[in-house]
Amino acid sequence: MSIFNQTIYDWYISNKRELPWRNTNDAYKIWISEIMLQQTRVAQTEFYFNRFITALPTVFALAKADEDTVLKLWQGLGYYTRARNLHAAAKIIVEKYNGIFPVNYPEILKLPGIGHYTAAAIASIAFNRPYAAVDGNVYRVLSRYFGIATPIDSEMGKKEFQQLASAVLAENNPGLHNQAMMEFGALQCIPKSPDCSNCLLNSSCDAKKNNLVGSLPVKSKRTKMVNRYFYYYIIACDDSFLFQKRTEKDIWKNLYQFPMIETNHEISDSEIIATEIHWLAGCTYNIKNMSVTKKHQLTHQTIFARFLYVEANKLPLSGPNFFKVHKKDIFTFAVPRLLEPVIKNIGNT
Ligand code: SF4
Repeated sequence: MSIFNQTIYDWYISNKRELPWRNTNDAYKIWISEIMLQQTRVAQTEFYFNRFITALPTVFALAKADEDTVLKLWQGLGYYTRARNLHAAAKIIVEKYNGIFPVNYPEILKLPGIGHYTAAAIASIAFNRPYAAVDGNVYRVLSRYFGIATPIDSEMGKKEFQQLASAVLAENNPGLHNQAMMEFGALQCIPKSPDCSNCLLNSSCDAKKNNLVGSLPVKSKRTKMVNRYFYYYIIACDDSFLFQKRTEKDIWKNLYQFPMIETNHEISDSEIIATEIHWLAGCTYNIKNMSVTKKHQLTHQTIFARFLYVEANKLPLSGPNFFKVHKKDIFTFAVPRLLEPVIKNIGNT
């Protein structure tokens, strides 16, 4: 075994975090944790993972659950396409594989929401199959240790790093190998200012030797950020509110919200009031209060949101996917994290 592999395994045995999805080869649990971890930090994931597994402990339970239940359990994790894909994949596993998780990498890869990384993680950790899982942590460790400057987001880079990861993979224990590589990247070879002086690999690390730690790994593209402006109308009539299901192909699909309009630039208070909201036609209403702008950061989008508290003589149910909800039931709906404080306030009034 190479010094690189042996050092990483030794480090892993002494430093790994105890997490609820470790020390199991239950493919269902490994799958759920891997999907959650794609966009969420480990510390946050633990809470959501335990809640999800308690409510839906098997693939049969997930397949049988309705979509609103799955989305509600996912609330707070963001990237809700992941939850919808999990649900769709669970149905396939139950219908096509009698509820037994497919063992082979190509079959795992065909399930909705599973890419090469996740398929390799499940195949290796749950079934001991020799596939190298290459996530952001692994790219970083490999590019620094071996001194590779090929951009990790280029086609060439993806191929080169996948080949290298496969070449260093310990075929007799691929699950441990993949977990050790990822954990080493997450805790030791961290993105900014890693503690190289106390790293067990520092005498053989190429980036350390050549003073390239800060410039590796290389990325070629910068992701464009988009600003969006959301104006929510919190329309109350007695103790009920107007609610809406988001069905467009956009962020937060199939989650619930207060009716809203979106503009491509910020508008003033008077413009908000003057804006004709066609679905409010026929109602008598007044805007009681307008919140200040709240900034909500997503990975590639910045949402600038304002909340308009409106009192109406009736709830206009003619808008798209509109319905009436009593304030005592409003908690039961899956909503974007942006709306959670508002919902909480309503529930406390
Ligand atoms: S010496 Fe520094 S850059 Fe090299 S593997 Fe260790 S932490 Fe990463």
